[in-house]
Amino acid sequence: MALVQSTAKIGAEPAASNTRDWRAALPSIDRLLGHASAPALLHEHGHSTVVAALRGVLAEARESVAAFADAHESVAAFAGAHGNVGAHAPLDDDALIAICAERLALAARPRLRPVFNLTGTVLHTNLGRALLPEEAIAAVTMAMRMPANLEFDLDTAGRGDRDDLVEDLVRELTGAEACTVVNNNAAAVFLALNTLAQRREVIVSRGELIEIGGAFRVPDIMSRAGARLHEVGTTNRTHLKDFEEAINPRTAMLMKVHWSNFEITGFTKTVPERELAALAHRHGLPLVNDLGSGTLVDLSRYGLPKEPTVQAALADGADLVLFSGDKLLGGPQAGLIAGRADLVKRIKRNPLKRALRVGKLTLAALEAVLRLYRHPERLRERLTTLRLLTRPQAEIAALAERLLAPVAASVGPAYAVRMLVLHSQIGSGARPVDLLPSAGLAMAPTTTGRGSGAALKRLEAAWRGLPVPVIGHVRDAAFCLDLRCLEDESMFTRQLPHLVSALPARPRNP
Ligand SMILES: *Cc1c(COP(=O)(O)O)cnc(C)c1O
Repeated sequence: MALVQSTAKIGAEPAASNTRDWRAALPSIDRLLGHASAPALLHEHGHSTVVAALRGVLAEARESVAAFADAHESVAAFAGAHGNVGAHAPLDDDALIAICAERLALAARPRLRPVFNLTGTVLHTNLGRALLPEEAIAAVTMAMRMPANLEFDLDTAGRGDRDDLVEDLVRELTGAEACTVVNNNAAAVFLALNTLAQRREVIVSRGELIEIGGAFRVPDIMSRAGARLHEVGTTNRTHLKDFEEAINPRTAMLMKVHWSNFEITGFTKTVPERELAALAHRHGLPLVNDLGSGTLVDLSRYGLPKEPTVQAALADGADLVLFSGDKLLGGPQAGLIAGRADLVKRIKRNPLKRALRVGKLTLAALEAVLRLYRHPERLRERLTTLRLLTRPQAEIAALAERLLAPVAASVGPAYAVRMLVLHSQIGSGARPVDLLPSAGLAMAPTTTGRGSGAALKRLEAAWRGLPVPVIGHVRDAAFCLDLRCLEDESMFTRQLPHLVSALPARPRNP
């Protein structure tokens, strides 16, 4: 088995004059460990790892010569046809050690690596969603380095509750009576349903039975949580009387789910949350609102598309509001459950809460992020997500202008580079139709017709192959970089020279 993918291949062209000699000439592990480069490898990677790598490389070398021998009646015949086999010899000790060193270096490289998210989607789920502000980074570092009062009450020396670290902040910022935190919003939905609606019915509008990327589907979560889905209304229109007629003795709650990643327009009708809450309360039922992105500030104040806030959802009568920590909130992956104290208490007593709870690093980051919201005047500058979302188009365009020439020089004459106006998306389920004016660079192959597709693929792969991979998107036969999320300009430009070697110097003919 190959250790890791390697650019170096074990050569199939033996140096010795026949297969048996060649195999005998293969060095032993001990001999390779005595090679001049071995001490450095041993120091860097440790004895057992280096030996395992050498063993792998030697096994492949043996296999490749056997395959070679199968393919040719004898090495001598091959030598007769091709002249001096020795001239092709790639398999001396130096070569074997070099292959090993390359593989060990690749295997030692972290799998989780930083990238530039120039996709135009600010909260990109596959690229880790929100970037955390410095305040949160400092808090997480502290919590990693030192013991902390995660579940220890410093006033009484008694046992504390980890949710207490953020509950007061959530109450102050949202008006909720109580709050608990779990691993993500999917867990929040699951736990709320399992606690409040097991073996009972949950009434949801048909238009809200959504699927979020990554296999989160409302009906599936509901059945796994042990709750029965009672759909009402139609895809485009649901009326208050649909809910009213559906309420029966088995009903546990009414649920509202934010549309998140799609839009229904045209002949539509949804029930205003106030009316839904009033109906639920007339029947002694809770209304649970899965807000998804759930922001704590009115984004329209910053010129961004309006998203429902957690405060507004609670003020409209929701008994519980569920939202993510790493979407518009701009914090770590987490799911927040905020609302009525008696319901939160029941949720916290569910044994599954223990399975879904968050760790100290998450709470450290979440507390720091929530604290920033207490100073709204500086929020935009300090909360990374908000800073990126509100970055002025003129500033992004100026950046594109500065990068145009260096990028064009690096990708070479095989690609035509130009500036263009782009539209970023918030991502992670904020309204997909509201776009943020942005700017960037587009690179199109100068060859047309056949071959241009391959050239585009090569370009995309070259950017993705940089030390800090650059992730963009392909549109209209061009590779586009939306520069909204590019803040470290010098790190970006420092690695441009690597592109030169990765791309052909001139357009290739098809
Ligand atoms: C994103 C989203 C979820 C899932 O939240 P995660 O934090 O990704 O688990 C659930 N419901 C809605 C409406 C969402 O937008």
